[in-house]
Amino acid sequence: MMQTADFSAVPSDAAERLATFLNSHGVGFDARRDLLDEAAQAGDSSALGYPGVPAPSGADKDEARAVRTLLLGGIGDVGVFERPELNALAAALPWVYRFGADGRAAQAPVRGVLAAWVLRDLALVAGAGHWGRIKVCANDACNALFYDATRAQTKRWHSFELCGNKANVAAHRRRHAADDKGVGGG
Ligand SMILES: [Zn+2]
Repeated sequence: MMQTADFSAVPSDAAERLATFLNSHGVGFDARRDLLDEAAQAGDSSALGYPGVPAPSGADKDEARAVRTLLLGGIGDVGVFERPELNALAAALPWVYRFGADGRAAQAPVRGVLAAWVLRDLALVAGAGHWGRIKVCANDACNALFYDATRAQTKRWHSFELCGNKANVAAHRRRHAADDKGVGGG
């Protein structure tokens, strides 16, 4: 049976899922964990950014890992899209349309469930020209991938609160304290 799932086709949502998936190789506090293996064991793809998609196993897990390895080697570099391995995986993981009597259409991967969903999101992100917005957190102890949705594309940390430098965090807290005072009457 084909799996369909109702994930947004908005590029920014796709980019967030893609970043979550790429982080499954183990970043920050999870530095020595591979969440792909853990999702396979737990039978749950939620931690990979794809709740509801069957947990990866067998060839699907291998292909998902291959996609992840390729993309992690090409952060900030569209040259990764010219890697023959990437397009070979994409050709091996096609999608079909299914039109329903309710007048709606759904897309479903033919096989390779998780890997196919990841490649669909990559296609959405790349189609919007947003691959360069997937960045590595500037905190060396973190290294989480994140999606920079800012217009100027100047975001440096996956989380300002967690990974921004101390001076910025302190300034941030001062601003918040001031804001709290300002709205205290409500
Ligand atoms: Zn970070």
